[in-house]
Amino acid sequence: MPADTVTLNLDDVKTLAKAALMNAGCDNANAEAIAHVVWMAERDGCSSHGLFRVPGYCKSLSSGKVNGAARPLLDRAAPSVLWVDGDAGYTPIAHKTMMEDFAELVRAQGVALAAITNSFHFAALWPEVEMLSSRGLVAMACTSYKPTVAPHGGRKPLYGTNPLAFSWPRPEGDPVTFDQASATMARGDIQIHKRDGKPVPEGVGIDANGNPTNDPEKILEGAQLAFGGYKGSSIAMMVELLAGPLLGENLSLEAAETDLDDGGPARGGEFILAFDPAKTRQKTESGGNAERLFAAMLEQEGVRLPGQGRKTRRAEVAEKGVVIPRALMEQIEI
Ligand code: NDP
Repeated sequence: MPADTVTLNLDDVKTLAKAALMNAGCDNANAEAIAHVVWMAERDGCSSHGLFRVPGYCKSLSSGKVNGAARPLLDRAAPSVLWVDGDAGYTPIAHKTMMEDFAELVRAQGVALAAITNSFHFAALWPEVEMLSSRGLVAMACTSYKPTVAPHGGRKPLYGTNPLAFSWPRPEGDPVTFDQASATMARGDIQIHKRDGKPVPEGVGIDANGNPTNDPEKILEGAQLAFGGYKGSSIAMMVELLAGPLLGENLSLEAAETDLDDGGPARGGEFILAFDPAKTRQKTESGGNAERLFAAMLEQEGVRLPGQGRKTRRAEVAEKGVVIPRALMEQIEI
């Protein structure tokens, strides 16, 4: 193990994260919910949403921007729309509060929307969609952020990195899940490249003058780019609309106007749409053809299912532990 890194076991990850969050002002319920999401990220080798995020979570608690004692409120706006007011807390407590009610609503209605507002999302999205798929439901979720991505053809950040996640339940084993930023690279990963002094691949972003660059620092000062040119740019725009105006919440550009820039996320909305396949299938005997698709995909050499990378990394982490920079450990440790 290099001297500038520390190896932790997964139990330590949760304990460390929870202690740091409580020290920064979270109550037990909020700290537990956030630490669990941090733990899940480290368990699956998603370091950009694991302990790396804890200093940011803590900064926005200490600044008073985020409510560490949030008690989200649920309301029914229409038979298939669940309103979730996050009480200005981080989203994990909102997810914990709404998940059972929402899954029941989806089963009753066949399709339902969870409209989460007044909340701060600083995590990956796969935990919430997988949670729903582990209950037999198909789910998609998206959220916006602060302006970081330039619209196609432009050079000024306007969209957030705007992730979109989708999860499909399977009769046996884990759901098939993808969770991807509409930016070419998640901002956390660019920050990690900057921290580690590594260049990023082509197409990730442009400098402040609009010139393509591999330098993560220049991209953080300039603009990120959407994946796939104008196509990804339209998906980023769709995420802005679904997670913002559709729910009566901020656009990324509005979130930035009121944000304290304290190192944590900006206030925004999260759109979660879920379907119960038992209600949407016209023939009860159909549905097995999803498995047919997955099998046909895997017959081709070089193909893997999205989500499988996390399972592979999970096995590696279980064997080798969680390796983090010593400097990060020093920042988190109380
Ligand atoms: P990646 O590009 O690393 O991965 C995107 C998706 O593609 C994953 O589901 C991944 O599955 C899948 N994938 C990767 N390689 C393959 C392959 N060879 N075959 C099939 N599927 C593959 O993620 P991003 O950098 O785009 O996003 C990282 C995270 O950042 C996301 O979890 C996102 O939610 C989060 N984020 C959160 C934000 C917020 O505001 N809260 C803002 C922006 C991003 P697998 O895991 O199996 O590799």
